[in-house]
Amino acid sequence: MLGSKNLKAIGVIGTQSVSLTDPDALKSASAKAMDEIKAEPFTSGLLSPYGTPGFYNSISSTGTLPTKNWQRTSYPESHDVLGHEAYHNTLEVKSYSCAQCPISCGRKSTIKDGPYAGESGGGPEYETLGAFGSKCLINDVSAVAKIGYDCNELGLDTISAGQIVATAMEWFDQGILDREKTDGIELSWGNVEATLEILRKMAYREGIGDLLAEGSKRAAAKMGGNAVDYTFEVKGLEMASCGVRASKGEAVVHAVSPRGADHLRPYASVIDAFGYLEEELGITEKQDPLLDGNKGWVKPVQELSMATNLIGACLFASICLAVKGSTWAGVYSAATGQSCSLEGLLLSAERVINMERMINFRFGFDRKDDTLPKRLLKEPAPDGPGEGEVVDLDTALDSYYEAMGWDTATGIPKPEKLQELGLSWMQA
Ligand code: SF4
Repeated sequence: MLGSKNLKAIGVIGTQSVSLTDPDALKSASAKAMDEIKAEPFTSGLLSPYGTPGFYNSISSTGTLPTKNWQRTSYPESHDVLGHEAYHNTLEVKSYSCAQCPISCGRKSTIKDGPYAGESGGGPEYETLGAFGSKCLINDVSAVAKIGYDCNELGLDTISAGQIVATAMEWFDQGILDREKTDGIELSWGNVEATLEILRKMAYREGIGDLLAEGSKRAAAKMGGNAVDYTFEVKGLEMASCGVRASKGEAVVHAVSPRGADHLRPYASVIDAFGYLEEELGITEKQDPLLDGNKGWVKPVQELSMATNLIGACLFASICLAVKGSTWAGVYSAATGQSCSLEGLLLSAERVINMERMINFRFGFDRKDDTLPKRLLKEPAPDGPGEGEVVDLDTALDSYYEAMGWDTATGIPKPEKLQELGLSWMQA
C-alpha cells in the first residue's frame, strides 16, 4: 500500500522521554532477562559471538537445512566453508548491536580475497547463507556475501530472492528453463555469476528477471506444466531456510502461519529438532521431531513467540527460550503498571492468533490453505536425521487444531473458543 502511494518511509521523532511506571522494578526485570540470555548456551555461545551464522551448522546437523532447493535436508560438506567459524575466518567481520542488547547479533563484513575482494556490506545473515549457500549450492562464503550485498543494494529480500533463484536453478536442471528462456544465462547449481545477473535482472524487471520478480507462486503459474512442483512457498510467501521433514513442529507453524511461510513465525524446531524443554510452557518432555501427530505443544510456543512480538521484544531473545515468558510479563508489568502474569501474556497472544485466523477466514482462507509444497509432503528426505520422512500434514494439523480449539474440518476457531477469548463478535 505504501509503495502504491510512492511513500518510501515515515520518520517519527519524539521530544519527551518515555515514562515508566516503576523504573526500579523494570531495572530488576531487565537484569533478570540479561541473566537468562547469558545463561542460555546457544544464545550466549553461538548467537552472540557469531551472529545468526552461528545457527548454520547446527541447523544442518538437525536435518532442517534446505539444500539444493529442498532436495536434501542437510549440507555437511559446507560446514567448513559456510559455517560460523569459516565465515569469521574468511571474511573481515564486525559485530553491531541494537541499543542495550547483550546479544549483538548484527554483522557487517568485508570480503578479503577473490574476485569480490574489498566489497563490504551488511551480513550475510544465516538466512542469506541458507538461501544462496545451501539452497543454491554456492559453497563459497565470500560469494554468498557478495550476493547478499547486491540484494541489499537492489532492495531484494534474500529469503524470497534466494528461494526463487533456487527454484529457477532446478527448473533449469529439469529443462523447464533453458538458455533461450534465461536470456543466455547458464543457471546451473552453484553458478555465482549467473545468480548475480539474475538478481540484477529481477530488480530491473528485465527478461527472465521480470518473470522471477513475480515471486514463486505467480512465476510458476505463468510457466505452467509442472513448474509448481519445484516452488517453495506457503500462501504465496517463499519459505525461509528452516526445514520441516525433520521437524514436524516446523511443518505445522509453516502451514498455519497467517502471512504464509513467515520468517517471524515461532521456531518450533527449537523444541522438537533441538530438544529444548520449557517447563513454564508445560513442555516437560522431549518431543519427537519425526512424530506427525501430538502437536498440542506448538500452541504455547506459538503464543510465546506472538507475545514477544506484542511487547516489541526481539524474537532472538526468546528464539532459544533464553528470556522466559514470565520474565517478559514482569518487564511489561514494570513498564506499564498493568499487572500481567505469564498466563495473561499468553492469553493476549492467543487472542491475537485467533483474531488473525478470523481475519484470514473473512478473506477466504481456511484449512485448505494450511498446506506445504508437494516435495515436503510426497518426497521422502534422502538424508539427515529425517531420512525417509515426509510430512503427514493432515495428522499434524488435526492434533494442532484440537489443541487450539479450532474446527478440524475447517481450521476455523470454534464458537466456544471465540467466546472464551471475548471474540464472539468476529464470528462469521
Ligand atoms: S535486539 Fe535482536 S536483532 Fe538487535 S542485536 Fe539484539 S538480538 Fe540482534
